[in-house]
Amino acid sequence: MSWWLLRTLAAALAALAGALLGQWLLGGTGPLPHTGPALGAGLAVTVLVAVDSLKGRRLMRWLRGSQEAPAPRGRGYWGEMGYRIERVLRLRERELERERGRLEQFLSGIEASPNGVLMLDANDQIDWCNSVAADHFGLDPVRDRRQRVTNLIRSPAFVSHLQAGRFEQPVVLASPLGRATLSVLVRPYGEGAKLVLSQDITEHERADGMRRDFVANVSHEIRTPLTVLSGFVESMASLPLSEAERQRVLQLMRQQTERMQTLVGDLLTLAQLEGSPRPAPDRWTAMDMLLQRLHADAVSLSAGRHVIRFEVEPGYEVAGNPSELASAITNLVTNAVRYTPEEGRIELAWRVRPDQSGELEVRDTGIGIAREHIPRLTERFYRVDGSRSRETGGTGLGLSIVKHVVQRHGGELVVESELGRGSCFRLLLPAPRVRRVRQSADQRASFASEF
Ligand code: ADP
Repeated sequence: MSWWLLRTLAAALAALAGALLGQWLLGGTGPLPHTGPALGAGLAVTVLVAVDSLKGRRLMRWLRGSQEAPAPRGRGYWGEMGYRIERVLRLRERELERERGRLEQFLSGIEASPNGVLMLDANDQIDWCNSVAADHFGLDPVRDRRQRVTNLIRSPAFVSHLQAGRFEQPVVLASPLGRATLSVLVRPYGEGAKLVLSQDITEHERADGMRRDFVANVSHEIRTPLTVLSGFVESMASLPLSEAERQRVLQLMRQQTERMQTLVGDLLTLAQLEGSPRPAPDRWTAMDMLLQRLHADAVSLSAGRHVIRFEVEPGYEVAGNPSELASAITNLVTNAVRYTPEEGRIELAWRVRPDQSGELEVRDTGIGIAREHIPRLTERFYRVDGSRSRETGGTGLGLSIVKHVVQRHGGELVVESELGRGSCFRLLLPAPRVRRVRQSADQRASFASEF
C-alpha cells in the first residue's frame, strides 16, 4: 500500500478515535451539538501533525549538518525517507571518491611524465602544470594558478607562437634561467583550452652539435692530405722532375697516404667500439703475453731514442677483448714515445691493487700537458698542439679510443700531467675483470727474461 494512503488512513483513524474519545469524555456538553467529537478529532490530528513535524525536523537538522552521522532512523514514513536520502548521499559520495581517485591517478601519471605538461584555459590562464613544466618554465604550480601564462613565460618566441595560433610545429626556446633548450608543442583542446608540452632537448642539441663538428673535423682531416696529394700528382704530371726529386715526392705522397690510412683506421675502430656489444666478462687474456708483445712494439717504435721499462706483475688475466685492450695500451705507449723527447724515460707498469682491481700505468718524462687541457683530451680530434700531433702521425683520436675501450671494460682512464715534466695515464680495471692464474716456474722464468 502506498505511503500517502497509509498516512491518510492513519489521519482518518486518529480523527475517528479522537472524535469517539471526545464524545465519550464530553458528550454533547458544548455550545454546539458535536463539540466533544470535533474537539477530540482536532486534538488527535494536531498530535499526529506535531509528532510528524518533530520527526521531519530531526531529518532536516541532519540534512543541514555535515551528514557524517547516520541519518535519524525510525519506523514509518520519516524513517524510510531518512534511509533513502542517506543511501543516495552515500552512493554519490562513493562515486565522487572514485572519481577523485581516478583524477589523482591520472594527474600522478602526468606528473611522472619526463616531459612538461601545462594546461591553459580559454584565456591562456594556467589551470594546472606538472613539476617538470614548473621546472622548465620556472613556475610555481600552486602560486601561479589562474595567472596568464604570457605574464610568466615571457620568451618572445613563445608569446608570438601562442598569439599566432598555428600550432602544427613545436617552438624551440631557452628555459628562463638559460640552463636548458626546450622544445614546446601547443595542442588546442576542449573549448579554447590548450595543452602545452615541453621537452628538454639540451642533450639532443649537444649531440647534434657534436655530430656536426665530427663530420666537419673528419672532412677537414681528410681534405688536408688529399690537397697535398693532388698537389704532388699535379707536380709530377706537369714538371720534369729528376729521379731524386721524384723519389722525394713519392716519399711525401706515401706519408700522406699513410696519414689517411691511420685516420680511417682510427675512425673504423671508434665506429666498431660504439656499435658492438660490451666485451664478454668471461673471455680471459693473459696480461703477461699481451704486454710482452707491446713491449717489443714500443722498443721498435722508439728506435733507441728512449729508455723504456716495463714492470709487469706476472700471472694475471683480464676479462675482455684482447685486441681492444691491445689497441688502448698501444695508443698510450705510442703517445708516450711521440711526446717524449730523446733520452726521456717511458715506464709501463701493470699491477693488481689490494682490492683486486687492475691498474695499467704508462708514465713518461715528456713534454707534459697544461692542466686546462686535461679534461678535454679524450674528445675526438682534440689536440693540445695540432701541428706536433700531425707531424708525429697523430689523428687526435687515440685517447678517445682509449677512453671507449676502458669504459666498455667497466673501468676508467685517469690522467695526471705537468707541463714540461711528463705525464701519467692510468687504466683502472674493476676487480671482477681481473683474475690470478697459476704459472709454472718455466713460464715465469721465460717471461722475466723477455722484459
Ligand atoms: P693524437 O693523435 O693527437 O696524439 P690523442 O687523442 O692520442 O691524439 O691525444 C690527444 C692529445 O693529447 C694529443 O694531441 C697531445 O697533445 C696530448 N697527449 C696525449 N698523450 C700525451 C703524452 N703522453 N704527453 C703529452 N701530451 C700528450
